[in-house]
Amino acid sequence: MFKMKNLVLLGPPGAGKGTLSAMLREESSLPHISTGDIFRVEINKGSELGKKAEEYVNKGQLVPDEIVAEMTGSRLEEKDCADGFILDGFPRTVRQAELLEKELIKTNRKLDLVIYFKAEKDLLIKRLTARLTCKSCGINFNKIFARPRKEGICDECGGELFQRPDDSYETAVNRLKVYEEQTSPLIAFYEDKKLLSEINAGLPKEESYTALLKVLK
Ligand code: AMP
Repeated sequence: MFKMKNLVLLGPPGAGKGTLSAMLREESSLPHISTGDIFRVEINKGSELGKKAEEYVNKGQLVPDEIVAEMTGSRLEEKDCADGFILDGFPRTVRQAELLEKELIKTNRKLDLVIYFKAEKDLLIKRLTARLTCKSCGINFNKIFARPRKEGICDECGGELFQRPDDSYETAVNRLKVYEEQTSPLIAFYEDKKLLSEINAGLPKEESYTALLKVLK
């Protein structure tokens, strides 16, 4: 188990937050809470929440703060989060970070660490536009860097691989712009709170993973 338990993974789309979280599952039982994954499930189900989120997600825009914060707040109050959690893709705005702080205070908790996944924009575009995602388990592959053993099939669960609609070139570029404008101010926000640790997310995944384990121990 790690010393740091209440964790936020912060960084641009394509930085490998989801991929390294999946690798972490092998060493830690902390629940992985990806707001993007939750939205994709709700959109597929056609739920009320999914309907509210769909348009934003497909355009690569942010779902309004209050909707995401409420959804994440209820998730954090579930039993399995009592001994720690890994938040992936939340918060994404300063307002969300403030709402998260409130939620944690309400339940007598605080963040232990925010890990900033740093990577260059050109690499992020390459990764996003070549990314393949499993329809069943959500694990990512990549047509260039991490091909599946069998084309179109997930190595882990045998599910079908597809390209997320928001991984098209235009939407990926837009998501990176949204990240720069709305999410990157969180780097200074958490630096001020002495919570930020940076890892080089531009390396092959095994090397970035080693860097991640180092900051967690
Ligand atoms: P991701 O899988 O993290 O790349 O998220 C996919 C999409 O879900 C984003 O482009 C947003 O439309 C939406 N989303 C996920 N997390 C958030 C968040 N914290 N705030 C607003 N929108 C979000």
